[in-house]
Amino acid sequence: MLRDLLGLLYPRTCCSCDKALIRSENYICTYCRYHLPRTNYHLHAENPIHKLFWGRVPVDAAAAYLFFKKGGRVQHLLHSLKYGGMKELGELLGQLYGKELKASPEFSSIDCIVPVPLHPSKEKRRGFNQSQVFSEGLSNSMEKPLVLQNLNRTTQTSTQTRKARFARWQNVKEVFAVQDPSAFENKKVLLVDDVVTTGATLEACTRALRSSSGCGVSIATIAAAL
Ligand SMILES: [Zn+2]
Repeated sequence: MLRDLLGLLYPRTCCSCDKALIRSENYICTYCRYHLPRTNYHLHAENPIHKLFWGRVPVDAAAAYLFFKKGGRVQHLLHSLKYGGMKELGELLGQLYGKELKASPEFSSIDCIVPVPLHPSKEKRRGFNQSQVFSEGLSNSMEKPLVLQNLNRTTQTSTQTRKARFARWQNVKEVFAVQDPSAFENKKVLLVDDVVTTGATLEACTRALRSSSGCGVSIATIAAAL
């Protein structure tokens, strides 16, 4: 009764459509859960995400859970996750997608899961890394270990010339490095990010991971905005 009363005072709403949730629903209403715009890319080896990396860096398999459309429900979901502090929503999405990936031979044969790291100052500001919480959900349902703090992000700022100061945003380069390469030797790593757009970040991370000998990389993201 208390729960229903609290529900009247502070209605829990769907992170996708904003309608009030019923008691058995969490974060996403049943309607939205059934109607999530799934890509099903994990069922097709030659999908647009995998093709994005062709000629750039070798990737074993790549897929995204949902289609991202500007102003659409998936953007709303990602916004709730990133800026609304809805960590549990990220875990839920990871759990749902993990169940689907588990059924795909390319993805079920991975050894570990590595989220794309946020810059430490950004993570401190936001309180968590959205790719990591999604990875935690994947790790749960795929029953594969999560490896944190071995792939690191640093920022390299070019020499502070006068010009560089004015165009500083152009001169800041994100660099990824693996701290202990032996941990990824001969391992199949599932690299995880929130949204894939140009693939530049994932490409840089894949290069860093592949510096470990025999390391193969597959990619999974929450959404694709190609
Ligand atoms: Zn909904």
